[in-house]
Amino acid sequence: MKYQELVNVYEALAGTTKRLEKTDILAEFFSKVDTQTLPQVVLMALGLVFPPWSEEEQGVGDKILMKAVSSVVGVSTNAVEDMVREKGDIGAAAEELYKKRTQQTFFSKPLTIDFVFTSIRKIAKISGNHSQSRKIAIILELLSSANGTEAKYISKTVLEELRIGVGEGIIRDAISKTFGIDKKVTERSHMLTNDLGLVAEVAMNEGEEGLKKLTLKPGRPVKPMLAQLSEGIAISINEMGKAICETKYDGIRVQIHKIKDNVQLFTRRLENVTEAIPEMSDYIKEAFPDEDFIAEGEMVATKDGKPISFQYILQRVRRKYNIEEAIDKVPLTLFLFDLLYLKIPLIDEPLKIRRELLKENVNTSKAQINLSEMIEASPENIDEAEKLFNSSIAGGNEGIMIKDPEEPYIPGIRGKKMLKFKAEPETLDVVVVGGTHGLGKRSNFIGSYLIAIKNQDNELKTVAHAATGLDDETLEKLTKLMEKYKIYEKGTKLTVEPKIILEIAYSEIVKSPEYEAGYSLRFPVVRRIREDKSIDDIDTVERLESMFKG
Ligand code: ATP
Repeated sequence: MKYQELVNVYEALAGTTKRLEKTDILAEFFSKVDTQTLPQVVLMALGLVFPPWSEEEQGVGDKILMKAVSSVVGVSTNAVEDMVREKGDIGAAAEELYKKRTQQTFFSKPLTIDFVFTSIRKIAKISGNHSQSRKIAIILELLSSANGTEAKYISKTVLEELRIGVGEGIIRDAISKTFGIDKKVTERSHMLTNDLGLVAEVAMNEGEEGLKKLTLKPGRPVKPMLAQLSEGIAISINEMGKAICETKYDGIRVQIHKIKDNVQLFTRRLENVTEAIPEMSDYIKEAFPDEDFIAEGEMVATKDGKPISFQYILQRVRRKYNIEEAIDKVPLTLFLFDLLYLKIPLIDEPLKIRRELLKENVNTSKAQINLSEMIEASPENIDEAEKLFNSSIAGGNEGIMIKDPEEPYIPGIRGKKMLKFKAEPETLDVVVVGGTHGLGKRSNFIGSYLIAIKNQDNELKTVAHAATGLDDETLEKLTKLMEKYKIYEKGTKLTVEPKIILEIAYSEIVKSPEYEAGYSLRFPVVRRIREDKSIDDIDTVERLESMFKG
């Protein structure tokens, strides 16, 4: 099939913003193409030549493309640059410049979809010596056989910037429409395979029944199951009846795929990050049985065994060079929380079984590979879930996940069967006005701190008691400071001058007659002592009030 036919479709798609019209245009086109071309045009309608999660990328920058256009059209690169500036993008500039093209290639064969598709694929495969000039050679071959509009879309596809307003949802709808398939079936097969080319091909050849048989396969990432916000620990657990509560780690989600000896790691957005974190593949191979599998977990950057800022982990997975150096600088720890495949697909099994299989099959003796911390919760032991939440944020994590143990894994859906309850991302700066000695082993320390904010008149108003989040070192330091600023002591309680500023994380602001501010914080956790701040910097009752009212 001629590439010009696809180009006509691109033009029609770019000419409307209406979703239904776009779907119709695509459906009509899909019904005309043969089995071999269909997967190609599906990817190309998305501006791709590989599934989105593939490691292959064209790696062609604006400069190379402008050079190619200049030599095909017979103008200077400066002239191309000027036109790009005028038109806004290289595709439109190429189209315009082709109108003035002097070096016509007569008798060239018309471009076919297959030729353009396989040529652009070849570009992505080129690496090593002289890779740039080999890439340019392929682009030149394409561009010199192209007419103006073809050149426009070849340029856009090569640069991976098609931008015709077609997303995966529209392609799915068009596949459903062309082959008369229930939208839900198309959607699920897409969530499971993440390969719309494959979905279209199966829809064409085997229909709905064929699509229903598509399932997940190691090597092909699955769209992750997502969480809704929990309205409160007790509410959620009461609603679910039984729940698995887990620490919500603050790192990045990784989907781990193993086929034979090959481990592939994908992020939440299904980017392949295997090469940036080679040590993880080694740990995983050691910890898992020698079977093909898909597992999920949160990968956290740590220092001395404690989680450190999420920024570090981003730096690690994005790194392309000096990877070995970073392995020691930013050690990674994995907390596994789900098993989606082990010899066979497991997603239709209830979470409790998947979790059990994870436990049975993963060796967690190495410090870098752990299962997420969990408890089995029910309306009878909500306090344990609250404790888990407290220890989670005290340990520098984000909160807890509350999951229905009876539920299957539903790819790509943000449902009610997996919830998250987080400490508010905002923290408050408060001042310590009093404290209470700890019990037992901690009686030498001040274990609980009465904290205050100020009102408009600069009067201090108590707002909560903070007792968690303190490591031994901070606890010791704070106790010393409390001694220093002590005004008086009675029993286990003491009052201090308002000198110590703390940064506090919490899960929620609640109304409270118990504290002078009229509001209080649920699950207040000390994040750190703010030695860089003074009483002038502490938060106000007004701010709390406005945050409460949202
Ligand atoms: P967030 O910004 O809250 O991480 P998100 O949109 O990335 O949200 P959600 O599905 O809404 O993702 O929240 C769950 C996220 O929490 C997961 O994507 C995962 O990265 C992370 N996470 C940390 N610990 C766990 C755990 N034990 N179980 C499931 N997810 C966890």
